[in-house]
Amino acid sequence: MNRKTINAVIILGFLSLTSILIIQMFSIRKTLEIQQRNIAIQQREDSLNMVHFTDLSYISLRNVLQRIRKVNKDSSDVFQAVKQLETNYFKVEFNTELNAFQLQSWLTREFYDRNLHHGFQFGIYDCFDRTITFSEFIGYSGTEFKTDTTRKVTTPVIDWDNDGHYFTVYFPDAYEQTKTLKLEESYSPYTYLSIIVILVLLFFGYTMTVIFRQKRLSEVKTDFINNMTHELKTPISTIGLSAEMIMRSGFDKNPDKLQQYASIIYKENKRLEHQVERVLNVAKLDKEKINLKREPFDIHELIQEAKDNFEFNQLKQDGEISLSLNASINEINVDPVHISNVVYNLIDNAIKYCSKTPNISISTQTEKKEILLEVEDNGIGIKRENLRMIFDKFYRVPTGNLHDVKGFGLGLYYVKLIIEEHGGSISVKSTFGKGTTFSVRLPNT
Ligand code: ADP
Repeated sequence: MNRKTINAVIILGFLSLTSILIIQMFSIRKTLEIQQRNIAIQQREDSLNMVHFTDLSYISLRNVLQRIRKVNKDSSDVFQAVKQLETNYFKVEFNTELNAFQLQSWLTREFYDRNLHHGFQFGIYDCFDRTITFSEFIGYSGTEFKTDTTRKVTTPVIDWDNDGHYFTVYFPDAYEQTKTLKLEESYSPYTYLSIIVILVLLFFGYTMTVIFRQKRLSEVKTDFINNMTHELKTPISTIGLSAEMIMRSGFDKNPDKLQQYASIIYKENKRLEHQVERVLNVAKLDKEKINLKREPFDIHELIQEAKDNFEFNQLKQDGEISLSLNASINEINVDPVHISNVVYNLIDNAIKYCSKTPNISISTQTEKKEILLEVEDNGIGIKRENLRMIFDKFYRVPTGNLHDVKGFGLGLYYVKLIIEEHGGSISVKSTFGKGTTFSVRLPNT
């Protein structure tokens, strides 16, 4: 599969995963909304039922009380005598003696007629000596009320009045607690299934990301090995050629030639050494913690020195580095070796990745408690899609099979590592074909 097809597969996979996720979340939200609405309806129904239940209980108990008073020829008010202590617990006051069996038969009759088909516990209290003179549970079998001696119900505790008698009626099974259906209790299996699907999808997405990250890493490593092989092959073959020339020719008459070949071998060997050193250094930085040797260091002096060196050795007449060093404090507490490498790396890149006469501007300024160092070039620039990866280890902007600019993709990785180790940050802005600006912020400590 070529890169384009892989990218298309990734994008399509990502889009379908995202749409399934969105659809799932949308359907969960819809289900929850419907459930919430159902709960609200249920609660409203419950409260209506409760009002109805209370009304019927009041009517029944008043009727029973009226019968008691009629039998006892008591004409006092029945209205205030019935009190609701709790949703399902009533108290009825009366003045005279009461026959428990008579009361039971009136209560069952009234409750039956009014469709109050709930088992109930009734108790008769004598408040003069604070005793319960009678207590019984009457169950409802589905067709009739019957004394149920097997069921023991504890009625809620009430305050005893000081005088009079009363009886209480407690319906333990009717509206014992307000039935508030909690949302999580009402989740349907479908909701759980949707949540599981979402979790599976997220896990799948995560696995895909890991796989693609690994794939990219292995690509970057392959690129690095190819690049490294190429970089090493050139000096090795030059050294080989020069050595062969020395072996073949007699240099008695021409010692200058010998000197020339020897110097080529020497230079190429140095180059090789330098390349290997760079790779090994970064590998070492990865393994060991960087041990910064901080000391007051004049950053302006460093920049001036780097400018002179680059102009003398690399640019010669062909290019310019202009400076605008405005930072009010130029002496900062940093590791001179590492920070010099950072500055040299950035300027080196600015020259390397430039296809016209390099025109580089380096500036410094003080910003709050930081020193801002910017290296701006008029080079080839970096496309937006490559920009976010340039600080990754071994990453080089793909240029097909062209190896016209040498490097291992380690320079900016090293630069970022060092800057962050100093407590600073680095950012980059680039316009493809126009140039790039690297901004380094170092704490002014
Ligand atoms: P390299 O050894 O390849 O130069 P770096 O880590 O220094 O490695 O840079 C990573 C990549 O970022 C380079 O391969 C190059 O494509 C891009 N790059 C770095 N600096 C610049 C710049 N100033 N202008 C354009 N491209 C740059």
